[in-house]
Amino acid sequence: MFEPFNDNVFQGEKTESFSLNMLENSVDAPPSCIDSDGSGIKRRKTTEVNVGNIVIGGNSPISVQSMCNTFTYDVKSTVDQIHSLEEAGCEIIRLAVPDEKSVAGLKEIRKETKTPLVADIHFDYRLAIMAAEAGVDCLRINPGNINGEDRVTEVVSAAKDYGLSIRIGVNAGSLEKHLLDRFGGATPEAMVESGLRHIGMLEKRNFNNTKISLKASDVMKTVQAYRLMAQKVDYPFHLGITESGSLATGSVKSSVGLGLLLSEGIGDTMRVSLAADPTEEVRVAFEILKSLKLRRKGVNVIACPSCGRVQIDVDKLTSEVEKELAHIKEPITVAVMGCEVNGPGEARDADIGVAGGHKRALIFSKGEKDGLVEYSDIKNVLVEKVEALAKKYNLENQKQES
Ligand code: SF4
Repeated sequence: MFEPFNDNVFQGEKTESFSLNMLENSVDAPPSCIDSDGSGIKRRKTTEVNVGNIVIGGNSPISVQSMCNTFTYDVKSTVDQIHSLEEAGCEIIRLAVPDEKSVAGLKEIRKETKTPLVADIHFDYRLAIMAAEAGVDCLRINPGNINGEDRVTEVVSAAKDYGLSIRIGVNAGSLEKHLLDRFGGATPEAMVESGLRHIGMLEKRNFNNTKISLKASDVMKTVQAYRLMAQKVDYPFHLGITESGSLATGSVKSSVGLGLLLSEGIGDTMRVSLAADPTEEVRVAFEILKSLKLRRKGVNVIACPSCGRVQIDVDKLTSEVEKELAHIKEPITVAVMGCEVNGPGEARDADIGVAGGHKRALIFSKGEKDGLVEYSDIKNVLVEKVEALAKKYNLENQKQES
């Protein structure tokens, strides 16, 4: 419903000084970055698995993973990318380990980084053992693909010795031939059967520090496979749609597939696979989790689509604000609204908001008008206010913890 905003402050007849007092006087409790309250989603009960200092499953927050697209033997490029991923909020990082020179790189990378690392291994059990020795926190390996019971025993022993978890990563594109024959193709049932077979090999060796993924590029096949597996085991799930595509198509597919599962309480850690910079995977993952109120980390930007009433460049401003506030970890909602018609309502509901007006824009802080700004100053004022609010939340959280 359109309600013209008729306020003399907004029309510029009266000015209000900018201050951060409203933020300083706020009595709201600082929000936690990692809670999932408010989602209304009842999560599936699972066992807990550790990947370094990150707990997956149980009551722990749904963690966000990505995978480096550098060569693991190229230590500098990989460490640089890990630092970018850490900056973006990535909590677990996977590295491909296809050969011994990658293991050598892994050792150096481990020394220079802190985020839990997962070694992605296929077929060669020796690489799994070497990766464990190099200091990774989890092995992604399918025990059925390493050719022999003795080799599985050796890998499991190494995982136990070094306190590592194992991710069984079933992929519809590489299912066992006998399962393809039996099920008539890479069906969700065949994927689940494959996963159960690998789980059985680990359980036979009393290994339960296991998480499972069941990925396909087909969204509904993936969803169905996880749903079926959720009825069979209580291990935590790593969610993902494999080879999902470019930033746009991959984000949509992952949002639909992972969104469906997460909304049903299925999923404990996730990777959004994109043919893009890995930091985009992290950004999209957190947006999915924030949409479902499963995580609240970082700035949540609300922006109007703009229309013929728009007074400010919403598109440009939103991109700039998102970029400049990407480092903020505290959960803060920012509204960028184009005009005085619907703008003030949304801007008031946000922690910090702006509504475009004639010649100038009106800033809101915690639901209250907080001054008028020239168009050219909007971005800087929003960034300044959000950073101040984040600092305040941070200090309050520290006080609560001490
Ligand atoms: S400019 Fe934005 S806020 Fe104003 S009416 Fe159009 S879409 Fe709504």
